[in-house]
Amino acid sequence: MEDTKFIDAGWLIDGTGGPVRKNIRLHIEKGRIVSINDSCAGDSAAAKATDFGSSTILPCLVDSHVHLWMSGTDDPVAREKQLSAGFDEIKVIISEHVKRHLSHGILAVRDGGDKDAYVMRYRNECIDIKKMPIDIRVAGRGWHRAGRYGGLIGRAPEEDQSLTEAIQYDHEVKDHIKIVNSGLNSLKEFGKETLPQFSAEELSDVVKIAKKCGRRVMVHANGKKPVAAALAAGCHSIEHGFFMGSENLKIMAEKGVVWVPTAFTMKGYAEHVENGSVEHDVSIMNLDHQLGQISKARELGVTIALGTDAGSIGVDHGYAVIEELKLLIAAGYSLPEAIRCATCNGARLLGIGAFGVISEGMAATFLVAKGDPSKLPDALSAIEAIYINGMCASDGLKSVY
Ligand SMILES: [Zn+2]
Repeated sequence: MEDTKFIDAGWLIDGTGGPVRKNIRLHIEKGRIVSINDSCAGDSAAAKATDFGSSTILPCLVDSHVHLWMSGTDDPVAREKQLSAGFDEIKVIISEHVKRHLSHGILAVRDGGDKDAYVMRYRNECIDIKKMPIDIRVAGRGWHRAGRYGGLIGRAPEEDQSLTEAIQYDHEVKDHIKIVNSGLNSLKEFGKETLPQFSAEELSDVVKIAKKCGRRVMVHANGKKPVAAALAAGCHSIEHGFFMGSENLKIMAEKGVVWVPTAFTMKGYAEHVENGSVEHDVSIMNLDHQLGQISKARELGVTIALGTDAGSIGVDHGYAVIEELKLLIAAGYSLPEAIRCATCNGARLLGIGAFGVISEGMAATFLVAKGDPSKLPDALSAIEAIYINGMCASDGLKSVY
């Protein structure tokens, strides 16, 4: 491995949300970025520099909410088959989804759970994943209250157990705790809210246990009351958060709680149901309302981490990140701000220090996307190169995706 490298790029989006820089040169030593300067054609280092003068460099991406065991197909037969499939079938599907994430420059995903904990088993057992440069953070099986929504992605505590007891006796080897604290977003009645599944007190005990074992608590919550309970308890991230309202957004900004709005789920769904149907119209209204909340969140300074809920109907692994980025931009985010949600903010939420921003002292781990920034986010569907610790990994990646 060459110890010293120079890479010239036409544009740099560094993941901090700051302005796009033009014509820069990265100086890389032993896999780390030593300096980022303006590139000057004709100087002594220029001859040695790798030239990406017509391309944009940005950090590798993080999808902070996926379900790797489920595909985004709208075919009810295929979905039903996946729901009842055994581990041997599902592990092939998971591998395919992982490859799609990699091909879109996504080097870390946070999984939101599955009823059989297959993603956890895959991450912990399968050898092929160890060869792939992707960080998969797993929830195992999430938790919901008996009789309420959540059976697809988790389980309920035993009849004689409290939520706290169930979590204390849970020995799954997981990275974070997933709690389902509301119903699904209604696709038939605009703005319909459901009651919380757990109280703030119950959730607060979960947060205490999670802290003891160094885990964070991600909470599926739509509607004012379910979100308010999760915030009062000190949970770390709110997933979806449809119809949570401005008061909850203000609290999130104050407490630094991360929001993962998964807005594309509504657009993806609308694109797969009959135009003019109630479900179509309500999902579009839900989407518009969510974009309004995202815009408000930006104003208030809420930290948003991009997550797609890939595996929902119409939400394909990898590609959905492009769509979610477009929706953040539609809600008023600049391109660098939207990229920050999909890089720095996601990496921080997952506790990943190896990438997320491109700055001096950081590992030289980044993507090269063809064209100027106006080609983003679409250019993420055909990434020119991926560098990991200063090494161009694209050739190696092609063998896995
Ligand atoms: Zn989910």
